[in-house]
Amino acid sequence: MTITTPKPSGRIPDRSIYERRESEVRSYARAMPRQFDKAEGVWMHDNQGGRYLDFLSGCSTLNYGHNHPILKQALIDYISADGIAHGLDLHTDAKEKFLNTYEELILKPRGLDYRAMFTGPTGTNAVEAAIKLARKVTGRENVIAFTNGFHGMTLGALACTGNAAKRGGAGVPLSHVSHEPYDGYYGPDVDTAELLEQRLADPSSGLDAPAAILVETVQGEGGLNAASPEWLRKIAALAKEHGALFIVDDIQAGCGRTGNFFSFEDMGFTPDIVTQAKSLSGMGLPFALTLFRPELDQWSPGEHNGTFRGNNHAFVTATAALRHFWSDTAFEDDIARRGTLLEQRLETMAREHGFETRGRGMMRGINVGSGELADAVTAACFDDGLIIETSGAHGEVIKVLAPLVIDDALLAQGLDILEARLREAMADDLAVAAE
Ligand SMILES: *Cc1c(COP(=O)(O)O)cnc(C)c1O
Repeated sequence: MTITTPKPSGRIPDRSIYERRESEVRSYARAMPRQFDKAEGVWMHDNQGGRYLDFLSGCSTLNYGHNHPILKQALIDYISADGIAHGLDLHTDAKEKFLNTYEELILKPRGLDYRAMFTGPTGTNAVEAAIKLARKVTGRENVIAFTNGFHGMTLGALACTGNAAKRGGAGVPLSHVSHEPYDGYYGPDVDTAELLEQRLADPSSGLDAPAAILVETVQGEGGLNAASPEWLRKIAALAKEHGALFIVDDIQAGCGRTGNFFSFEDMGFTPDIVTQAKSLSGMGLPFALTLFRPELDQWSPGEHNGTFRGNNHAFVTATAALRHFWSDTAFEDDIARRGTLLEQRLETMAREHGFETRGRGMMRGINVGSGELADAVTAACFDDGLIIETSGAHGEVIKVLAPLVIDDALLAQGLDILEARLREAMADDLAVAAE
């Protein structure tokens, strides 16, 4: 199979409506200046006949690929039968099936006892609900979040986010959050969990008693830094010791991206609260969930409300995805194999140029040291029919978020493109440096 990308020929696409009417806030469209009209599996198509292998997967909202036939059929059937479409939190057949399936295939086999709260539809809504609940239950205000953490764009979640450019949009002080160093922030020789332990134990550290400690096990936007299980266990224990709730933001790292349904499985701790979104619906439909221990369910009815709390169409596709991918361990085995393949290929590329790899499972990338270089590589990849994005404080990490269902040959083919374009960009860099 070859990847084809149209060279600019024939009619030049008219993009004036976007420039005239769409806000300047648009971003992904700038890096990928084509108009897309179709997608299936690991492929996206533009309306000029170009085809792209998708190593972004809607920012990991499409772990099962575009328009998976089983999910698509479930949704078509549901709509054809005039199933409930709106998102008020009524009891519906679609919601009942989702909850039963989630209990049977996800919670029970993992020995997890969580209540499920359907928040507003995007990830940031799940984070807002999580930190609001933690503050309510503990009566404390401060939340400990980590350097390079990303938790969303609404004010509460944004306060927990590290990135200055994103924080700058808030327009008000982002407060009641302490940003502590993530695992590895000061290099391999400094145990930042020990630093946090010291600060929490010291009544003169200036660190207010936390309502929660909020963490990503792998930092999706913050550069694919993967915390070690030991570090996470220590942080979980610190939360417990100091009366704070331990929240894992699993919005990007979950739903199989790092290998299992939850990114913290088999690590020896159970979060008090977990947030999910992105690939939960499996179809790219907005759907977010906040899970918590039953004792924490201290909400009064409607205390945290919203019009779109529970997306029935997403319940249908999520249920189909759980049944198809999570009924046994075959999918996890596949992810493990592909993750190893991805790791080996990225390691080879990194070694060639003296770079380092980042991440875990099928959530991995290469730190190329500069955002300019990473952008040059991803732009060249796009011209070559590969959709791939960057991550990190300076956008310096080239991030592979291929659909988890990608077959090994296509994964290798996309990585061939990345390898070649990286090699060219490095040669260009050297040529410029020599001038
Ligand atoms: C994407 C993301 C969010 C925010 O989700 P939205 O759907 O963009 O609101 C929060 N946390 C993590 C870890 C994410 O990757």
